[in-house]
Amino acid sequence: MTNPVVAVLGTGVMGAGMVQSLRRAEVPVRMWNRNGDKARALTGTGAEAFDSPAEAVAGADVVLTMLFDVDAAIEVVRQAQAPAGTVWLQCSTVGVAGADRIAEVAEELGLVLVDCPVLGTRQPAEQGQLVMLASGPDEQREPLAPLLDAMGRRTVWAGEAGAGSRLKMACNAWLVSISVGTAQSVALARGLGVDPQLFLDAVDGGPMDTPYAKLKAGNMLAGEHPVSFGLTGATKDARLIRSALQLAGVPDLFDAAAVAVMERAIERLPDPGAVDLSALIEGFAPDGD
Ligand code: NAP
Repeated sequence: MTNPVVAVLGTGVMGAGMVQSLRRAEVPVRMWNRNGDKARALTGTGAEAFDSPAEAVAGADVVLTMLFDVDAAIEVVRQAQAPAGTVWLQCSTVGVAGADRIAEVAEELGLVLVDCPVLGTRQPAEQGQLVMLASGPDEQREPLAPLLDAMGRRTVWAGEAGAGSRLKMACNAWLVSISVGTAQSVALARGLGVDPQLFLDAVDGGPMDTPYAKLKAGNMLAGEHPVSFGLTGATKDARLIRSALQLAGVPDLFDAAAVAVMERAIERLPDPGAVDLSALIEGFAPDGD
């Protein structure tokens, strides 16, 4: 099977990693990013950088969007002017209402939508180890397999387009729970005068231990938050989860509290756009600090 040509629109943290994984599998990649330097930095992989979404998409079989949110994804796909019949592999996290808006735009533009948010962060994206939460027409499974296999260690096909974004909300609710829960335990240990490392030692290797909690706690203990999943993006996702809970008729008390902690962290940090989700521990800083 020959690899389809992919236009990757958005080479931020995740898009850049996905370009690297696609290129390792020798998938031809055309790419565009709003800040063109980020796309040009990836040309060493053999991917070609273009100055506009429309140029990147010319001649591509698949348009892959990996942008900040639903508004960016819709704006950029409109600019791309891909011919009707082109597959739109939409990977940004857009939530439930966002996925429905994306489906409307795909229909208006005559694009074949595969809604496919992903699980995993910077390193899994770079290493082709994401979990692809795909949803869309069954006949796209085979042609898209080389791309999905290049970017992910597994693809979960969830159903009709939009089901992937719904599944993503359930998965990210878990991610937010672990992150906020870890920060709370680290802050509580500190507040009680106990070395927070002892909290990690106590749960190490047991049923409560998770690699993700360890990763985020490592940042929290070091007081360094290099971006893997940015705090502002994660807060956007926590708000999307809240809307999803409300749509589903499930009480949103728990996620509402998570959003409040994250927003408190954002208010207190000098440059919240430049730090990882782990910096949400600032939301647990005592009043007056
Ligand atoms: P990121 O590094 O902040 O990248 C965001 C991308 O969106 C950049 O290419 C940015 O362009 C672009 N963008 C933002 N607003 C735009 C606009 N109005 N018009 C055009 N382009 C715009 O974020 P990321 O971590 O790669 O996340 C991308 C998506 O993946 C998000 O939906 C996020 O929720 C999701 N996600 C992230 C992770 C993670 O761990 N990082 C995991 C799973 C899913 P510039 O470079 O020019 O700013």
